[in-house]
Amino acid sequence: MSPLTKVILSDQDMPTHWYNINADLPAAGVELPPPLHPVTGNPIGPEDLAPLFPMALILQEVSTDRYIEIPEEIQDVYRLWRPTPLFRAHRWEKALDTPAKIYYKYEGTSPSGSHKPNTAVAQAYYNKQEGVKRLSTETGAGQWGSALSFACQVFGLECKVYMVRVSYEQKPYRRILMETYGATVVPSPSPDTNAGRSILEQDPDSPGSLGIAISEAVEDAVMREDTKYSLGSVLNHVLLHQTVIGQEVIKQLEVFGADWPDVLIACTGGGSNFGGFAFPFLRENIVNGKSTRVVAVEPTASPSLTRGVYAYDYGDTAKMAPMVKMHTLGHDFVPAPIHAGGLRYHGMSAQVSALKEAGLIEAVSVHQRAIFEAAISFARTEGIVVAPETAHAVRAAMDEALACRESGESKTIVFNLSGHGHFDLAAYDAYLSGQLEDYEYPEERIQESLAHLPKVG
Ligand SMILES: *Cc1c(COP(=O)(O)O)cnc(C)c1O
Repeated sequence: MSPLTKVILSDQDMPTHWYNINADLPAAGVELPPPLHPVTGNPIGPEDLAPLFPMALILQEVSTDRYIEIPEEIQDVYRLWRPTPLFRAHRWEKALDTPAKIYYKYEGTSPSGSHKPNTAVAQAYYNKQEGVKRLSTETGAGQWGSALSFACQVFGLECKVYMVRVSYEQKPYRRILMETYGATVVPSPSPDTNAGRSILEQDPDSPGSLGIAISEAVEDAVMREDTKYSLGSVLNHVLLHQTVIGQEVIKQLEVFGADWPDVLIACTGGGSNFGGFAFPFLRENIVNGKSTRVVAVEPTASPSLTRGVYAYDYGDTAKMAPMVKMHTLGHDFVPAPIHAGGLRYHGMSAQVSALKEAGLIEAVSVHQRAIFEAAISFARTEGIVVAPETAHAVRAAMDEALACRESGESKTIVFNLSGHGHFDLAAYDAYLSGQLEDYEYPEERIQESLAHLPKVG
């Protein structure tokens, strides 16, 4: 029999619990400093977050239980696409002429085409449970907005999406997908909120930004009794919901008869697909003496883990979100307009940041043209056209495989394929027609933004 190309688990093999790495951080000597109130500077409590999030999610945010049961209603929706397949990249290995064994977990089979519904469905469920009627959120390119639109529809919630105006105008297909799932989408800044109106007064043609859209979505939730806010990355509970990914991979590698991985790779914007993929393996490193290298990959144009500082900073440009100790480029950092919109965030998940600071994970940054070169090599052998965000992981996996070609080692490399790029073909077009630029972020600009960090004791 020829060696397996993919492992598709059955419904019964889907994880029944999420894995909470907070339970194992003390054993690793990693401390997670508390989030602070943006105005008072005091540690925030559940009551500070209650206007924004349902209590079940607030409790998950601070939980130290190792495993949290996935409610049956959420499992039932997950089963529409989970477990997702794990592939062995036989054809790509051959094209790269590498002795390495490359595996990839394909999260693009979800309804909206990425890992994001894993948390969107959970968040919509807990809001519904607590009587919430409507969710507000922001979206850049639209991956998060489309995941939440789907999840809200499943549980009968209304969904209002503030979409950064440039994307709303330049990328209509994600907007149409959100509307197909029943959401209301407005370009941000919008006339629907005070934050949006005041910006439109100063600049009627404002292109918008993720920071402005967050301010609008938060204001929407705070002003309305029936509405709460939803965030698609960065927070502990979001990474928690994503851990179904890594747990499935562990089972699938076993079915493959694969060696325990030498290297794990995922891209990082706010850290959610990375955390969900890697945390179940990191537990094995921390508790069971395994020594897998775990690599986070970010754009050179938005290099929070590789060039940011580990310090308290605001989660958003408007300084409304809590201050979090994380790797940050400064809350007023404005990344270059790279095509991987989902990786253009100034900060990073507190958990991922603390693990990096403690040396339990590594980080590398890669240029935009290099990621598309890798993505095209992957598409032409494995067939899947990956999202520009995911292409960062593809590039790093390719570099590991090429290093194996040099050294002759046959390492086991596993990467997370966080989503497909079917709505990102304009970016491929720009690369293929030679119009894509690389951006280095100038050190002075980083220093300038870092000078505005809040002063915390
Ligand atoms: C949003 C997104 C990312 C980046 O977000 P993380 O929270 O860092 O995972 C990566 N890949 C895809 C396909 C995305 O949609």
